[in-house]
Amino acid sequence: MPSRRTFLQSSLLAAGAAALPRALAKTGPSGAKVVSTWDFGVPANQAAWAVLAKGGSAIDAVEAGARWAETGQCNSTVGRCGYPDRDGFVTLDASIMKGDGSCGSVAALEGIDHPITVARRVMEKTPHVMLVGAGAQQFAIEQGFKAQDLRTPEAEKAWKEWLKTSKYAPEINVEQRAMPGNKENHDTIGMLAIDASGQLAGACTTSGMAWKMRGRVGDSPIIGAGLYVDNEVGGATASGVGEEMIRNAASFLVVELMRQGRSPAEACREAIERVVSKRPEASKELQVCFLAMNKHGEVGAFALHQGFSYAVCDAGKQDALLRSQSIYTSQKS
Ligand code: ASP
Repeated sequence: MPSRRTFLQSSLLAAGAAALPRALAKTGPSGAKVVSTWDFGVPANQAAWAVLAKGGSAIDAVEAGARWAETGQCNSTVGRCGYPDRDGFVTLDASIMKGDGSCGSVAALEGIDHPITVARRVMEKTPHVMLVGAGAQQFAIEQGFKAQDLRTPEAEKAWKEWLKTSKYAPEINVEQRAMPGNKENHDTIGMLAIDASGQLAGACTTSGMAWKMRGRVGDSPIIGAGLYVDNEVGGATASGVGEEMIRNAASFLVVELMRQGRSPAEACREAIERVVSKRPEASKELQVCFLAMNKHGEVGAFALHQGFSYAVCDAGKQDALLRSQSIYTSQKS
């Protein structure tokens, strides 16, 4: 099973190249681009690029890319294979946003395997921005989704193992800790796209923190925390311990810093510094990562701790995987 922990040492990788459909290589509109968090961003970007390459919209592209992450892989941190909360329930958070300010999200959604599409339906078919819990599931079923048990046998096994200690301990994804069988206990796919007509969109989807309290909602479905997009400036998305992003309205902060003239990388770095300045001691113990793209297609990222990777895909190259810089560069423990 692919994991971010298989991250290779070079800064620009060909990960996912084997899966790259030949027809997509060096094709598509020159202004279009899609970026996503983590290693699984490479194949997710390719799913999004299949839309952009045909002249499709940024919103369709990010939905397609996020849907791939939700079901096209089996990862312990996103979609149907996500690890459950401490009571054994898989609960999913997702948000989607267009550069014109339209947005929708779902939080603590159970039993529905494409929360990103439910979030888009909230945006397009309701007068609201966010639906949660049982109400979100009811809406999804009304929209034709089937409720199903998303807990995989592997997630169940991991949960039963976790119950032996019941210790809530979000891991910092430092690559030196990579080892066979060491599973992620949190991650998110955050994706930003710009289409041939210059429209921006973003999507963010996750099962949140493994072993979280029942009812816990992270940053991913909170517009401005896990995702923010503005056609006038650019977009930002986040991964890591979501409480920090919510405390700092972090994705909104990154976009506002770009509005003030920072490059995407500078804006992400400054937002990370804000996280550190608010809770210096806590920030040593947890991971926070930002990825941003401005309206010109310039991309930047920054993380608290080393280990954050992000994928970039455009007409020139569909499988670039880059390593983010970070405040802390050595292994914590
Ligand atoms: N941000 C997600 C959450 O807090 C988890 C992650 O991206 O690592 O739910």
